[in-house]
Amino acid sequence: MAQPRKVVIVTHHKPDADALGSSLGLAGYLKKKGHFVQVITPSDYPEFLHWMPGNEAVLAFDKSREARIARHIEEAEVIFCLDFSALNRIEELTEFVRKSSAKKVLIDHHLEPEDFAEFNQWDARAASTAGLVFNLIAELNDVQEIDSAIADCLYAGIMTDTGGFRHSNTRHEEFLIASELVRLGANPTKVSKLIYDTNSLERLRLMGFVLGEKLKVLPEYHTAYMTLSAEELKRFGSQTGDTEGFVNYGLSIKGVRLSVMIYERKDSIKLSFRSLGNFNVNELARKYFDGGGHKNASGGTSSTTLEQTLQKLLIILPEYKEKLIVNE
Ligand code: 5GP
Ligand code: MN
Repeated sequence: MAQPRKVVIVTHHKPDADALGSSLGLAGYLKKKGHFVQVITPSDYPEFLHWMPGNEAVLAFDKSREARIARHIEEAEVIFCLDFSALNRIEELTEFVRKSSAKKVLIDHHLEPEDFAEFNQWDARAASTAGLVFNLIAELNDVQEIDSAIADCLYAGIMTDTGGFRHSNTRHEEFLIASELVRLGANPTKVSKLIYDTNSLERLRLMGFVLGEKLKVLPEYHTAYMTLSAEELKRFGSQTGDTEGFVNYGLSIKGVRLSVMIYERKDSIKLSFRSLGNFNVNELARKYFDGGGHKNASGGTSSTTLEQTLQKLLIILPEYKEKLIVNE
């Protein structure tokens, strides 16, 4: 992009650290190159991401900002779509982006991407979208443009999507990119403190409740699950992002290969799936819960009740029994 361009960057609904970090990292870089950049999120996002440089200029969708957001998307010459592979993941922004005449660039690492962009920087082997943004900047021979603000944002994405460099998606490349980011000014201690260790007391109490009373294990299916109703979330004063990571505790139990968290959102039920080894939660989430993601980490939704959603899960588990009980 030789001339200055009007650029919009959009993330998926309820962006996580990778979605927001990759977007703000890319925004920081493109601004340095002279472009006009607006980051737009389809919803609010957790407070533990608000420290990211550039956060103050993000436009998070709500009805009161709809006209402004629509204008930005309409006037954009280029729209970067970061950390999602299906247009319906941007919810209320879907039609604005679909209709826009801007060139679309997909930068993503989710399985089975939809074909909606003119340019794709897509790699399902990459642990994070932030790493793909780093690769893009490196391909443009611009690594020296990455300052500590950009580096912290990108590092946050790699750190969280690898679960702190522990998940099976952590390759040699993730360490190489992280190492480069630290050389360029990312501060791993600061970033991990800001993301993982800024809990509210309410969130820790909610976690205590979930682990103490809501976590269930089905030993015959090597499966753990937990449900949280809107009433329970309200009782603990839950904020956006408070339930993030809970699903991993199910997977930390010896012998468990599948962990599912089901909770009530304002107008739908949300599911989070995590698995170990070859058990493919992307397939399960896609087939039964209108979702998708990665082999070992996916999400989905349901438009029935919390209880009915749980019953549906329990009914389909036998179909997966053989795949769940193999020893790898
Ligand atoms: P989480 O369980 O943390 O919300 O999401 C796990 C992974 O699945 C993330 O990569 C996320 O982008 C993806 N994901 C979450 N919910 C959905 C969904 O409803 N549809 C699709 N296609 N992917 C999802
Ligand atoms: Mn990601």
